[in-house]
Amino acid sequence: MSAFDLSGRGALVTGGNGGIGLGIAKGLAAAGAAVVLAARNQKKAQSALLELRALGGKADFVAFDALKEASCRQAVDRAAERCGRLDILVNNAGTTVRKPPQDLTAAEWHQVMDTNLTSAFVCSQAAYPHMVAAGGGKIINIGSMMSIFASAYAVAYAASKGGIVQMARSMAVAWAKDNIQVNCILPGWIDTDLTRSAREQVPGLNERVLARTPAQRWGSPDDFAGIAVFLASAASDFITGTAIPVDGGYSVQT
Ligand code: NDP
Repeated sequence: MSAFDLSGRGALVTGGNGGIGLGIAKGLAAAGAAVVLAARNQKKAQSALLELRALGGKADFVAFDALKEASCRQAVDRAAERCGRLDILVNNAGTTVRKPPQDLTAAEWHQVMDTNLTSAFVCSQAAYPHMVAAGGGKIINIGSMMSIFASAYAVAYAASKGGIVQMARSMAVAWAKDNIQVNCILPGWIDTDLTRSAREQVPGLNERVLARTPAQRWGSPDDFAGIAVFLASAASDFITGTAIPVDGGYSVQT
């Protein structure tokens, strides 16, 4: 369907070298977009690029450290340069430090907030002039169930993921006049590197996730291809400022 066609579009996916970011990048590439991955780990990126190119699309990698403002701005400008334009930005890079609030250091707080929230702000701000030049754009932010719920071990993570939803709403309001739509995806429990250590270290987590998720399974990175294409395409042109759970029903079950 032409409403979902991304041919000729340029996309940047932060943290696109694996996990949910790669699932999203594969969706965008399959829909025809040229995709630039931004991350630190080059080895993971090389194998991700092979997967993307196998889908027939143009794919590239830029080195990116979400903790450094200059690196965020440079990644956005390089992506626009390599694609010849920038229509789609996916703010996906993320991290967490699992500790109760009384034990989290200020440095750890900043690390999580800067990776998850400040980098999304800076990348979005850097993308704005490119999107205005392209006649519009799509910004997709990755939130979490922690955008809605709370956890004793996620004080900074939950603050960053709650914050990214309010940031997206504010940008959606500010940039609607520029034909830029800004939305969030809220993943449930997804099988990636980020959750692997929790699955290994937290007794009973696997069983609790399966019991609490109506779909009765963990999500997979490929579950994000469809929603990403939708939010990146003309099919969602009148949708902005939303936060859409992709969680197998986790957030609607009491
Ligand atoms: P992964 O660990 O597979 O991916 C995290 C990505 O973020 C990696 O590509 C990593 O790049 C990148 N990243 C982290 N820190 C930095 C940094 N300082 N600079 C540059 N890149 C960085 O986990 P997921 O795929 O699960 O996570 C992707 C997003 O989804 C995150 O925002 C996460 O919070 C969110 N999420 C995940 C859930 C889940 O259940 N898995 C649930 C809810 C939300 P590199 O490899 O180069 O380090």
